[in-house]
This record gives sequence, structure tokens and C-alpha cells, in this order.
Amino acid sequence: MSDLFNVADIFGEDVFNDSVMQERLPKKVYKDLKQVIEEGKDLDLATADVIAHEMKEWAIEKGATHYTHWFQPMTGVTAEKHDSFISAPLPNGKVLMSFSGKELIKGEPDASSFPSGGLRATFEARGYTAWDCTSPAFVRVDAGGATLCIPTAFCSYTGEALDLKTPLLRSMESVNEQALRLLKLFGNTTSKKVTPCVGPEQEYFLVDAEKYEKRKDLIYTGRTLFGAPAPKGQELEDHYFGTIRQRIAAFMKDVNTQLWKVGVTAKTQHNEVAPAQHELAPIYSQANVAVDHNQLVMATLKRVACQHGLKCLLHEKPFAGVNGSGKHNNWSITTDDGKNLLDPGKNPHENLQFLLVLTCIIKAIDVHADILRESASNPGNDHRLGANEAPPAIISIFLGEQLQDIIDQLVSKGSATHSEKGGKMDIGVSTIPEFSKDATDRNRTSPFAFTGNKFEFRMVGSKDSIATPNTVLNTIVAEAFSDACDILEKADDFETAVKDLIAEYAQKHQRVIYNGNGYSDEWVEEAAKRGLPNIKSMVEAIPVMTTDESVALFEKFHVLSRAELESRAAIKYETYSKVINIEALTMIDIASKQLIPAVIKYSGKLAGTINTVKAAGADVSVQTELLKEVSSLLKEAKDALESLKKIEAAAAEKEEGEELATYYHETVVPAMEALRAPIDKLEMIVDKEIWPMPSYGDLMFEV
Ligand code: ADP
Ligand code: MG
Repeated sequence: MSDLFNVADIFGEDVFNDSVMQERLPKKVYKDLKQVIEEGKDLDLATADVIAHEMKEWAIEKGATHYTHWFQPMTGVTAEKHDSFISAPLPNGKVLMSFSGKELIKGEPDASSFPSGGLRATFEARGYTAWDCTSPAFVRVDAGGATLCIPTAFCSYTGEALDLKTPLLRSMESVNEQALRLLKLFGNTTSKKVTPCVGPEQEYFLVDAEKYEKRKDLIYTGRTLFGAPAPKGQELEDHYFGTIRQRIAAFMKDVNTQLWKVGVTAKTQHNEVAPAQHELAPIYSQANVAVDHNQLVMATLKRVACQHGLKCLLHEKPFAGVNGSGKHNNWSITTDDGKNLLDPGKNPHENLQFLLVLTCIIKAIDVHADILRESASNPGNDHRLGANEAPPAIISIFLGEQLQDIIDQLVSKGSATHSEKGGKMDIGVSTIPEFSKDATDRNRTSPFAFTGNKFEFRMVGSKDSIATPNTVLNTIVAEAFSDACDILEKADDFETAVKDLIAEYAQKHQRVIYNGNGYSDEWVEEAAKRGLPNIKSMVEAIPVMTTDESVALFEKFHVLSRAELESRAAIKYETYSKVINIEALTMIDIASKQLIPAVIKYSGKLAGTINTVKAAGADVSVQTELLKEVSSLLKEAKDALESLKKIEAAAAEKEEGEELATYYHETVVPAMEALRAPIDKLEMIVDKEIWPMPSYGDLMFEV
């Protein structure tokens, strides 16, 4: 059989999507379910029973033996517990395959081993998973066979969210409610629902599996903890958008095929800036589906990589000295009748609804920059944000020339009277057809950039779930809409009031807009002058989650309660400490058992050479100098190792939570860097035959 196929034939073939439901469910059941999905109506058990039965029949035809409630606990990855469809054996020894409505809508995994941040004690293990019928069920095929996966939310016995999805769904409801209020003010009577839409661009690295297996740091921590730079990095910029090598192309083809089958709209793929770095982007979809699909993308990248003798690294900074990986979270808000609230239209200066939406978003980002920044924090992202590479840890907005010009008019005159136009593009070659130019150029250095009809939040880490950043975006924008509606609903003269409000927001919050180079030092200084927060690390960002302002915001829109926020902060501290602890222990292990012994072996060899060459009467000055250099670095490394061991052991005396995480950040991390420095220098000197791990060059250029 040819392995070329028509994508349209396989797309979504393993998804219990609308057309499958329409085809298989009785008319009345289908109608009821659609009302649940679209309007949030309650689902009765009898209807759920019919849906479950049909879902099971469909899944079994696809070869499924098990079903699972697929959920997203606060570990940032997905979790699942599998149950087979078999029921108790019949008297004749055979089994029936069954799946009830109750099993579809509610699961009861033991919750005690998932992080809860103190929300419940270990003995109160009860947790529930509840069907999120707005994200379609699908059959996943892997080495374990075929499994019916049912996207679910996960909560405790007392109804507190134990996952990343529940707050996301709550935030989608609040943005819907507030956006509908806003639309109504502008006379919109046709839109029934407003949904945040998200398209995440996923960056990742691929390395050869055999080489990966030789690096304990990659195995245990997902990143290299040692490694001298390769002779070539990304300076020639020849990898970005470069021709995709055949081995990688074969990998991408399989990834796409598997994703299309489960309904993920894998669309764009290309080589990224760093060697061995690539990107995959789907077509955007409603936020909770995008979150689920991004989890599927990450899992598929990892699984297919293994099938191709590769390993996929999703860590934010697998290699020092070259770009790390992020996730660009493209976000917009769209009505059920197809209107994008972020579409400026032809003449944005006249489009009051757009200008109100825009200035509300600017206000939201300015007021809650710290919460948004926190939402993108994880241990890996500390190596990107404001550290060795951009984007900076400072939140700012890029608007582009056209909208900037309008904001400038609003700030200086209190109103906007014209919009800059894109015009035609003529590049001076008569055979190339003329095309129209966008009204705005791009800016790649801004953490929050307007790109035509959406905002692109570029801070999110490559490994992280996009659930939390979108929960924050939805909530802060819901608040800004709500504040604006509170004022405008009371206004006698709506048009004057809305114009005044737009101008007021533009004036008050323009400080968060920056169209220059976000990577520059000038911006750091300028931002400080403007009073914008510059939160440099995860540990410094976490306290933002539980300030009175944050609690008031999330409680007002029923997204997260104080207890839920506190538990999330506790989990983040704990996660940070655990990750750094594992990294430090891995470094100690590799340095003690592999690298220092290799250096000793090499210096022994050098000393032997010196003796032999000397006995033969030749000059040994070069060898002697090398030996001295190696010995001195070896001493430095051994001292740093002992110091790291002590510092690491002392962590046991710290109090868990903020104190421990701060200790890891401020004391353990520098001790790790002190150990890495002499070892990376040694790697440049020691015979490659003796060095026990593949080098950066081997990992990045021999894939
Ligand atoms: P870039 O050139 O920045 O890489 P792309 O045009 O490839 O951007 O789009 C990146 C992502 O943005 C894709 O996932 C795309 O589907 C998504 N996207 C496009 N329009 C919207 C929108 N209105 N809302 C949300 N996401 C969108
Ligand atoms: Mg992009």
C-alpha cells in the first residue's frame, strides 16, 4: 500500500466528533447533548447512558479495549487510569462489554497521590473526574492498544479544583458572560456565546536516542547540566526555516498523521532558530480544546520520536548558549456567529467596539502584568525569561504602527480621527505580482504582541500546559470588560461615554505599550522608570498568586478561591524545589561517577606520557602545561562538587514552601553553576575518547 494518502480521509477518524454523534445518536439524544455542549444545560442520566453506549460501540469498532478519564492534574502533564469495558463474566463464562452513563460522566480516581497543595489530607483521598463534553472524546492508539479517552475535569470531594482545566473552563464562562454584556451595549442581539480561541505554536528539540541514553542529565532532568559549546551554534541562522532533513521529515509526517487522526489540526511545521530545534502549530480552536490538543501534541511528539530512534526534548532550555523553547500562545475572542472581537476592521479608529475591547485588554495587561508573568513561570522558563535570552521577564504590549498611531491620537487629542493604511507592496520585479501589505510590521521581541486579529503571548514555556496562562488572560479581560460595562450601562449618552472611556484607558495604561526592542538593556531601564514589574524568577513570581488583589480578582469571577490559589502556590514552590533538587543530585552523580573519574584517567595518561617522553629525551613542556591546567581545573571541580554536596544536604533543614524554594533558587543554583564552569572547560581539553558523554556538537548536529 502506498503510504501517501488524502488527509481529508483520515482527519478526525478517531474522534467522537459532531458527525459521528449525529450519525450514531438517536435524534433526541443528539439534540439534548448539543444543548449541553452549547448552552451548558444539565445532562440527565438516561441520556448519558445512551451516549455512553454508542461511544463504547464506536470505540470497540476502532479496536478499543479500555476507556479512560483523561485529566490534567497540577503536575502539568495528563493523567489517566484505564478500565477495560468488560463486565462480570456471564454464567456461560463469556463477558459483555459495557460502559454506562455514570461511568462516562463521573470517574473516581484515588486523588491522594496527586499534588493538592494542602487542599486535602492524604487520607481524604476522594477525587472526581467529570466529563468535559465540550472537548470531544477520542480513541488513542499506541503500544498498549486502543483506548477511548474522555477529556475530564478533576476536583476534590469538596468541589475544589485539583486540575488545570476546571479554572480554565470557569474563566471561559466569565469571559463569555462579560463579553456578551459588552456586545449588548453596542446593540448586538445576535451573538449568543463568546469563546476565547487559542492557537499554540509548540517548539521542541530532537536528539538521537542512542546519544540521549548516554546522558543521565537528559534522562533525569530533560536538559543538559554540563556541556561545552559546540564550535558552531545558531550564529549563521541557517537552521531557521532551513530544509528539513529526511529523518526529521519522516518523523514529522508520522506526527502529523497521528495528530490528524485524533482531530488535531497540525498545520505548520518548520525548523527553528537553534540547531535541532523545530516547531509545530495547529490551527486555533476554542481554548479548552486547544489545551487538550496541545497536551496531545506534546505526548505525540514524544511517542513518535521514540519510534524513530529519536528523543523529543520539551524542556525550555535543553542546551546552554543556544535558544531555548517556548510556546507562543495566540489568543482571541470570537462570537458563535463568527465575529472576532479583536478584528480591527478596515478603519479601526471608527470601530468603537474594537477600540473598547483593545483598551480593556491593555488595561487588563497593565493592571495584572504580574499575574500574567507568573502564569508563565516554571523552573525551566527561569533560563529563558529575563535570563540568558528573551523574551524579557517584563510584560509589555506591542501594537504595531497602525494601532499605536490610534492610541497616540487618543492620548494626545482624546479621540482618533484616522487610521494608517497598509498600501500596496511593489518589490521592483515586474514578474512578481503586486500584493497588499499589512498595516503593521511584526515585532518578535515583545512578550504580548498584537498580530492582526489576535494577541500572541510569547512567554509560555515549551513544556508547560497552556491552561493557566489562558485562565489568567480570560479572567483579567473578563474583569476589564465587567468594569467597563459597569460604567457604560449607567451612561445617559452611550457614545460620548464610550469614547471618553476609551481615551481614559489609553491614557492611563499606555505605559505598558512598548514597540521597541524588548531584548535590549535600554528597555529594562525604561520599564523600571515606567514602574512596570520586572519579576526575574519563578520563586519571586509565586507570591503574586495569593495577594489580596489576585484573590479578589479570581474570586469575583469564580475562577479560583483563596484556598485554591494558596494550594496552587504551595504546589509551585514544591515543584520548584523538587526540580532543582533532582538537577543538583544528577549533577553530583554525573560529576562524581563519570566526569571526575574521566579527568583523573586523562591526567594519569598525560603523566604517563610525560614520563615516557622525558625518558626518550624529548621536550615535555606542552604536556606538562596541559597536565597543570587539567589538575588545577580538576581541583576546582572537586571543590565545587564538595561544596554543592554540602549545600544540597543543608536543604533538609529548611522549611518546606517559600523558604526551601528560595534556598534552592538563591543558594543551590549558584553552586550548580560553580560546578559546571570548570567541568565545561575540562571538556574542551580532555581527549574526546575518554570523555564519557556525547558533546553538544554530537547532540545537536548529528541527528
Ligand atoms: P506566526 O507567523 O507568528 O508563526 P501563524 O500565522 O503561523 O503565526 O499563526 C500562529 C498560530 O496562531 C496558529 O496556531 C494560528 O491558527 C493561530 N491563530 C490565527 N488566528 C488566530 C485567532 N484569531 N485567534 C487565535 N489564534 C489564531
Ligand atoms: Mg509565532
